[in-house]
Amino acid sequence: RRMSVPTTMKAVVLETTGGPEVLQFKTDYPVPSPQEGELLVRNNISGVNFIDTYFRTGLYASPKPEVLGREGAGTVVALGPNTTGFQTGDRVVWLGTGGYAEFTAVPASKTVKIPEGLTDEDVIASFLSGLTILAFTKETYPVKKGDWVLLHAAAGGAGYLMTQVLKSIGAKVIGTAGGPEKCAIVKSLGADVVIDYRSEEGKDWVKLVKEATGGQGVDVVYDSVGKDTWEGSLEAVKRKGTIIWFGNASGPIPPLPLAKLSPKALKVARPTLFTYIETREEFEYYTNELFRLLLSGELKVKIHKVYPLEDVVQCHKDLEGRKTTGKPLLKA
Ligand code: NDP
Repeated sequence: RRMSVPTTMKAVVLETTGGPEVLQFKTDYPVPSPQEGELLVRNNISGVNFIDTYFRTGLYASPKPEVLGREGAGTVVALGPNTTGFQTGDRVVWLGTGGYAEFTAVPASKTVKIPEGLTDEDVIASFLSGLTILAFTKETYPVKKGDWVLLHAAAGGAGYLMTQVLKSIGAKVIGTAGGPEKCAIVKSLGADVVIDYRSEEGKDWVKLVKEATGGQGVDVVYDSVGKDTWEGSLEAVKRKGTIIWFGNASGPIPPLPLAKLSPKALKVARPTLFTYIETREEFEYYTNELFRLLLSGELKVKIHKVYPLEDVVQCHKDLEGRKTTGKPLLKA
């Protein structure tokens, strides 16, 4: 059964790579048709993630023209051929591509129904980033009670959630963030040490991390800032410690000669969420865990702002300009 669906829609289209201004808001973009295994979802709300900026700038390759956006929440309005497990009218959240639009054809395998008791906003403010931080704290490095953890950009979309999850595990968290307002947010989440790495004192954050850990350094660093923090992260980690590089907010890290790891016998990981949720079983494991944390109130979300879809250029400017805390969202 197909609910009534228009033939054209509002969407943000990317024809070439470049700065935020290459994002084109259109009102007459064709509504996609769901193919085998896909659902057509009318998005109520869509998530904006830093990865969207990598596809926009060309740091990550993707075919153009392209509609950006890796996640959305809304209502199933049609099913592709041989698609099972869903009905029109289901309220769902999905991972896929093409979220900066009113309608998106999404893989049913990466879609789940939103449980009663959670709003679309709660879920989308924690979906891609929440699944990421759960996978990285359970599997990439299983964080233990008492571990010292250094987390960069701790007031950001992923950082805001990760700080809470690390504290609930019982880790000792050192969070970095840019500016007093962001630092206050990180402190309010229970971080043990908060460093404003853009302040005069905080510029020497490696020294502050060493001091906080009795000269030892941390057990694990979660570094999604990349270029600007990487060398410091290598210094701030303790002997036999782990560094997880998972993003390029300031640019990619320089090539890493593996011999550089030997003096401290370090482990380095470069994870991506999608590798941890390839099977339906893995995807449901992490989505169920996320929903449990949201429903119990253990995990709180923070929405930076809901931008109208036509303000997408400003949204990207704010995200890249380090002006957001928590999660930016788009609404068509
Ligand atoms: P954020 O909301 O965290 O935004 C990025 C933050 O990085 C900024 O707010 C800023 O915080 C900090 N930052 C530091 N240096 C710069 C810079 N030069 N330019 C811009 N920002 C800078 O984004 P997300 O929550 O969407 O993503 C966080 C990170 O996690 C990204 O690197 C992203 O790619 C990565 N990620 C990776 C995944 C994976 O599967 N590997 C999945 C999900 C996210 P401040 O001002 O406090 O420094």
